Amino acid sequence: MKPAIVVVGSLNMDIVINVDHMPKEGQTLIGTGLTEIPGGKGANQAVAIGKLQAPVSMIGKVGADPYGTSLLNSLTASNVNTEHIVTSAEKSGVAVVTVDQSGSNHIIVIPGANFDITEQDIELQRQAIEQCEIVVLQLEVPMEVVKYTLQLAKQLGKTTILNPAPAKPLDDELLSYVDILIPNEHELADICGIELVDDQSLQAATQALLAKGVQSLIVTLGEKGCCYADHQTFKMFPAHKVKALDTTAAGDSFIGGFAASYVSNPNMDEAIRQAQIVAAITVTRAGAQSSLPTLAEVQQFAR
Ligand code: ATP
Repeated sequence: MKPAIVVVGSLNMDIVINVDHMPKEGQTLIGTGLTEIPGGKGANQAVAIGKLQAPVSMIGKVGADPYGTSLLNSLTASNVNTEHIVTSAEKSGVAVVTVDQSGSNHIIVIPGANFDITEQDIELQRQAIEQCEIVVLQLEVPMEVVKYTLQLAKQLGKTTILNPAPAKPLDDELLSYVDILIPNEHELADICGIELVDDQSLQAATQALLAKGVQSLIVTLGEKGCCYADHQTFKMFPAHKVKALDTTAAGDSFIGGFAASYVSNPNMDEAIRQAQIVAAITVTRAGAQSSLPTLAEVQQFAR
C-alpha cells in the first residue's frame, strides 16, 4: 500500500460575486456575476494532493445541505477519500467573495460546520491518522482541534505539516508538535512579530520559530519562491519564471505538491522542487481547485 496523507481542515463553498465597483455604505448594487466554487484551505490542499495521485483522506465537517454535497463531490472527483468527513448540525462553511473590475476583493467567511469540529471528532477518526504517514493542518478549524491533532499525530509517530493560515497566535506547546511549518511571509511576520524587510530579518524570524521547537520551516515568498530553514540550514529556492494570471491557491497548491512528494520520498529538496512546479502551474490559471495541476501536467513541466 502507498503511504498516505491525512488533511484535517476546512471545506467552504466560495460564493463569488462580481461587481463593477465595491458598494458604498448603505448602497444597493446590481452584481454582474455569481459563481459557486468549492474551496476552503483544507479541501484545496487535499485536492492538490489527490490530483497528484498520492493517497489522501480528509477529516472535516460539512452541513446537511446542498453545499455539503457539492463540497464532498469536488473532493471525490479529485481522488480524495471523504469517508472521514462528518455531517454537522451546523451549515456548511461559506466564503462570500466580492470582486470588482480591478480584481480587488472583500471576503467574509462564515465557518459554520468547520468550527463545529471537536477533539472528540478527531478521536472518532483516529484510525485514519494511525494509518497515514503525514498529517497536514491549517488554521481554519478551532485552534484546540489543531493542537490536539498535532499532539496525537506526534504521539503516533507521524510527520506533521502546519500551514498557519490565516495567521493567528500560536503557543509554544503547539509549535513543539510541528515538524514542518509552512507559512507565507505575511503569516511568518504575524506569528513572530518580526517585520520582514530583508534576508536577515527573514532568517531571524525562522530562527525564532525554530527556537520554539518547530523542527523545520518553509517560508513561501510569492514570485520570489521560498526558503527552507532548520537548525543547520538556511536555503533559498527561486520560483519558476511563469506568466502569473491568478495567484489564488498558490499557497495551497505548494503545500499539496510538497506533501504529495514528501510522503513517498522524504527528501526536502525534491519535495520543495515539486511544490514549486505545482504552484507555478497553478498561478498561470484562473480559479482555486480548478487551477491545480494533475501529475501528468507536473511531469510535463519538469521535463
Ligand atoms: P495564496 O494566499 O494566494 O494561496 P500564498 O500567499 O499562501 O498564496 P505565496 O507565497 O504567494 O503563497 O506563493 C506560494 C508559492 O507559489 C511560492 O513559493 C512560489 O513557489 C509560487 N508562486 C507564487 N507566485 C508566483 C509567481 N508569480 N510565479 C511563480 N511562482 C509563484
